[in-house]
Amino acid sequence: MQTFIGSNYWLTTVSMPQGTPGDLPKRADVAVIGAGFTGLSAARSLAKRGANVVVLESHSIGWGASSRNGGMVLTGLKLSPETLASRYGMELTRRMYAASLASIDVVEQIVREENIGCDFSRCGHLEVACKPSHFDSYARSVETIAKEFNHQLRIVPRAQLSDEIGSSIYFGGIVDETSTGLNPTQYVTGLATAAIKAGANLYENARVEQITPETQNGNHGFEIHTSRGNIFATNVLVATSGYTSAATPALRKKIIPIGSFIITTEQLPDDLARELNPRNRMIYDSKHYLYYYRLTPDNRMLFGGRAAFFPETKNTIRRSAEILRRGMVQVFPQLRETKVAYAWGGTLDFCFDTMPHAGHADGIYYALGYAGHGVAMATYLGAKSAEEIAGEKVENPFSEIPFPGAPLGLYNGRPWFLPFAGAYYKVLDWIS
Ligand SMILES: Cc1cc2nc3c(=O)[nH]c(=O)nc-3n(C[C@H](O)[C@H](O)[C@H](O)COP(=O)(O)OP(=O)(O)OC[C@H]3O[C@@H](n4cnc5c(N)ncnc54)[C@H](O)[C@@H]3O)c2cc1C
Repeated sequence: MQTFIGSNYWLTTVSMPQGTPGDLPKRADVAVIGAGFTGLSAARSLAKRGANVVVLESHSIGWGASSRNGGMVLTGLKLSPETLASRYGMELTRRMYAASLASIDVVEQIVREENIGCDFSRCGHLEVACKPSHFDSYARSVETIAKEFNHQLRIVPRAQLSDEIGSSIYFGGIVDETSTGLNPTQYVTGLATAAIKAGANLYENARVEQITPETQNGNHGFEIHTSRGNIFATNVLVATSGYTSAATPALRKKIIPIGSFIITTEQLPDDLARELNPRNRMIYDSKHYLYYYRLTPDNRMLFGGRAAFFPETKNTIRRSAEILRRGMVQVFPQLRETKVAYAWGGTLDFCFDTMPHAGHADGIYYALGYAGHGVAMATYLGAKSAEEIAGEKVENPFSEIPFPGAPLGLYNGRPWFLPFAGAYYKVLDWIS
């Protein structure tokens, strides 16, 4: 069997909706830049409130990370509760953790309301410890999360880990039954269909090149220059995640685009699939340079990681596919003879503080910085941004934290330091 390098397995499970045909309109109440979870969730919410919304997308609907990810809908944030509490205080951390739980409920509600067939299932997640010291730290995390956030996780000692995973390389784990799995490409397709049904217009191949403040007929707003012509909008929401470009230069300097890669095997026999992942969990390990993996609904092992730090090109995908295959066989020697059928990559959006950010600057709204935890949070912050644009009072702890740029301003949007960061995290995994 041939491996389709650069070919995304999830895309074989959908047919994407078409964008709006014809020319861009001259005006809109809100222009949303980017047709992923953030932009489409915002467009759906705004259109349901009666706003005239256009979504401007450089490529096609769902082209970015939203169709390329692992489909793991996870509780919590990228940073640990301990790190969050020491940085922001426990009160704000409580609200952030609550938002992470609420974000999964929001996805569930949209899936039910819009009848989106995307194999949404509350199957839970399993974090596995790569070292005894990682396992030792789990007890404190579980205690903090129970005490401060009233959310129960379960520790799985090494002796019981075979109930959860068909691998013997780990030192124990934590299970969170609230987390969820879905098919991300079917989900983003469903969101797009829902936004269109609510009245939003989605323009593909409409790359935003520049945004300038403008007043028309006494209305303050923005002239948006795109590859398909110009449009005036009263409000703008930037939802461009790891693909943030020179069209929004200030935001670009705050986002580090980092590659993440996935391989997917041929279909596995039922009994082998159950042996590897008996409870169908969403699984990730405890390293900085982590692996994440799950079964697809048709029994393929989907295995991902930050195998190369640079975003996706034919070369980074090919190299990553080899690294990930070796990693997969280390975790599951049972897959030594199994063929890899698909390999692809996508770009994550890391901010310098590894936090999501949703707010506005110079009159332009933004929601981004999901750091690989974006399926639910992007949906949630897209909806929150919509509520804020609509003038509603919004609970959004992520708008209350500072949004830092690079230390000493040493970054213009081109991440020259990625090889050093990659090496740093490898060393950290080795010593910690
Ligand atoms: C390989 C991989 C695996 C992942 N796995 C998981 C996971 O299992 N669980 C999880 O929670 N998260 C995961 N993530 C993260 C998650 O996919 C993202 O956080 C989420 O999809 C972000 O959605 P978004 O709508 O903000 O951005 P995107 O989906 O990236 O959409 C941004 C869009 O903006 C468009 N755009 C950019 N610039 C312009 C412009 N100038 N004009 C017009 N359009 C523009 C792009 O073309 C793109 O389509 C993963 C990401 C990757 C890459």
